[in-house]
Amino acid sequence: MSGIMDYPKNGRFGDFGGRYVPESLHGACVEVERYFEKFWSDEDFKAEYIHILQEYAGRPTPLTHAKRLSDQLSVDVFLKREDLTHTGSHKINNVIGQALLTKKMGKKKIIAETGAGQHGVATATAAALFGLSCQVYMGEVDVKRQALNVFRMQLLGAEVIPVGSGSRTLKDAVNEAMRAWVSEIETTHYCIGSVMGPHPYPYMVREFQRVIGEEAATQFANQQGGTPDFVIACIGGGSNAAGTFAGFVDTKAKLIGVEPEGGAAISRGSPGVVHGMRSNLLQDEFGQVQEAESISAGLDYPGVGPEHSYLASIGRASYKTVSDSEVLEAVTLLSQLEGIVPALEPAHAVAYLAREAGSEIPKDSTVVLTLSGRGDKDAEVVASLISARLGKK
Ligand SMILES: *Cc1c(COP(=O)(O)O)cnc(C)c1O
Repeated sequence: MSGIMDYPKNGRFGDFGGRYVPESLHGACVEVERYFEKFWSDEDFKAEYIHILQEYAGRPTPLTHAKRLSDQLSVDVFLKREDLTHTGSHKINNVIGQALLTKKMGKKKIIAETGAGQHGVATATAAALFGLSCQVYMGEVDVKRQALNVFRMQLLGAEVIPVGSGSRTLKDAVNEAMRAWVSEIETTHYCIGSVMGPHPYPYMVREFQRVIGEEAATQFANQQGGTPDFVIACIGGGSNAAGTFAGFVDTKAKLIGVEPEGGAAISRGSPGVVHGMRSNLLQDEFGQVQEAESISAGLDYPGVGPEHSYLASIGRASYKTVSDSEVLEAVTLLSQLEGIVPALEPAHAVAYLAREAGSEIPKDSTVVLTLSGRGDKDAEVVASLISARLGKK
């Protein structure tokens, strides 16, 4: 393999990435890096990881030709169906990999941060599967907003720890999880949920998600021949996009990441250091991290994985934004044309495609779009927003 998304030297993707952590965490990051490097090049480990993804999580996921959507938009759209995995999103790919690594490290406990609760539920699931104890840090605001996911985690045997510092949301949950990790490094692995944080996390999580892009590239070649003109995915921390892009970065396909207007770390942010990495983030003039705000809790992260900042800086991928109301329309569009109710996060990618078909995405282009998760979790939010809009008319 050779190319743009190779192993980052010193944990750097160009000017981005790195490992900006207190000394007390440095050793633990080095340990994770060593174990990951050792086992990611071990055929038995890889075979076990793939086996679990197949017989437990439902891989490979289909690449679905969205015929009615394609007709309507006059572009040829193929959906990579991460919504069909166990627990309903791509997050399972990463947590299975990290839980397996936790076992190899001889650790008995796994901790995680969560915003909307999706990564927390996925981690609790993997912990149950592997017999690990599990604690999930979650901002108090999110604990209230996402009561059902809190219950799901508890049902799976995990303990949810409410975080009352700062804005009591995702960024504070990450800080608290890192703090907790320091005090129990010997026994505990910190399972980060996206391509963010200190090295090796951005790289490791992308590797555990590259199965999305590799499957999609093979499936597209088999179904359609060649490579698609465009590859589109939504960006929160950036893991489903990074995993998808990994399968296409060495082809001529144009790579597009779609951010929410209210959380556009690449489109509207600037470089800074947060959560152990240097990347683009939303910050004020003093470098204080600002809150992201979007209709989809899963994209409410004020930063973005450093590899995306890098891909943007060299022009290999481009990053676009969509508004909340475009996202709501996209949910309805995909539901009614394809019988697929998308999560609000991938509906960002669909919204961009719907807006730009015939323009930035020329007529008759072929498009692979990653549908990172299913929409059941968002039904209540979507219902109340749609009825509020109908009420206004
Ligand atoms: C968490 C989540 C995202 C955002 O995370 P990334 O790391 O950017 O992929 C996107 N889609 C779904 C369904 C999610 O649960």
